[in-house]
This record gives sequence, C-alpha cells and structure tokens, in this order.
Amino acid sequence: MTSNSAEFMNALSVDARKMPIIPLLEFFRRLSQEWCYKRRIEGGKRSTVLTEWAEKVVSKNEERTTGWSISGVSDAFYEVHDFKHGGIVDLRQETCTCKYWEGTGLPCGHVIMVLKHLNKTNFGHLPIDAYKMETYRSTYEEPVYPLPEPCDWEIPAEMMVVKPPIMDTCQAGRPRNRNRIPSQGEEPIIRGVVDVIVQHIMQRLVLHWSQRNKKG
Ligand SMILES: [Zn+2]
Repeated sequence: MTSNSAEFMNALSVDARKMPIIPLLEFFRRLSQEWCYKRRIEGGKRSTVLTEWAEKVVSKNEERTTGWSISGVSDAFYEVHDFKHGGIVDLRQETCTCKYWEGTGLPCGHVIMVLKHLNKTNFGHLPIDAYKMETYRSTYEEPVYPLPEPCDWEIPAEMMVVKPPIMDTCQAGRPRNRNRIPSQGEEPIIRGVVDVIVQHIMQRLVLHWSQRNKKG
C-alpha cells in the first residue's frame, strides 16, 4: 500500500520535481488544498457509517455468502461452510481462521454469515475505524490555506541561514571505512603514508648534510 502511494505521488509530480524548491512546495501545497476541499465536500454529502469503498467491499463479501451454511458451536463461536476451506469465527476475539478479518480490518464472508445467522443486517460496526466516514471527515476537516507572495512573508529574525551543500564530486561506490578497529594481530593502519615518507627523506637529508659538514 505504501509503495502504491509513493508511486502515485511520483507519477503525479514527474514534471513538478524539475521545478525549483519553492514552486515545488507550492505544487504540493495546492494539491493538498484541492484534495482536502474536495474530500470535505464529499464527506459532508455521505450519511453512511462506512466510506464508499469499504461499503462496496463489504457488500461484495456478503454476495459471496450465497449458499453457504453455518454450524453454531457457542454463542460466540461458529463454523461457516463455504464449499472450500471454510472459516471458524470467534466473535469475542474478533477472529476468523481465514485471517481476512484480522488482516484487512474488514469482515470476511464468514463473519457476515454469522451476523446474518444472528439476524443482524447492519455490518457497519465491524470494520476498523480507518474505513469509517467519521475518520474520513476528521482527516480532511482542516483546510489547507494558500500562501501569500514570498515578498509578503514574515520571516523571523532569529531564523537560521541554511548554506548550500558542498558539491565536491565524490568517487563512485561506497566510501572506504577508515575507522575500522584492527583485528587481533593485524598491523595498525598507517595514516598519511606520504607524510611518513617525506618525513623519512627529510631526516636522511638532515643526517647527510650534518655528516658532510662535520667532514668539511
Ligand atoms: Zn473468514
């Protein structure tokens, strides 16, 4: 589900992503403004407990129960026969052995079959809150307001100045880890090999000239 949402946003902003940062942010702000407004209007029109999508899924699951049968075990435990593997429903634990109810938060055909057996025709209380209109309305109740022109923005004096990143070109591939703790018995890594060589040459030169001066 997360991957689908990310792909949807990527497809939607394929051109906007080429814009500078301020127009890009304005693109997403305007998008949020339109979405919230549209969904707030839709939410106000619906009087059902479930969202349109959830209601369709539940009614589809109900249609599938045609011809199924049920065997009661206790007042909360039922076995539903569906021409395949069947389902054992526990109303107290809110589980079904088909795992659909726990996995999706929506009632499977087995659970709906049990409620129908108990002469209950309203299944709106069974799905989790995420599928309910109350949640839908509260999600979009806050309006997203337009921003004034950048020249009219009130920028706090204590605001930190963000400097641009250093754009040094890096070599391809993963950088070498130079902070590794040496293994047991391993020679420590010599840092600045060139420095050590230069230092060694300088020492040799100093020695050479001091010996030559002594001879002179
Ligand atoms: Zn089930």
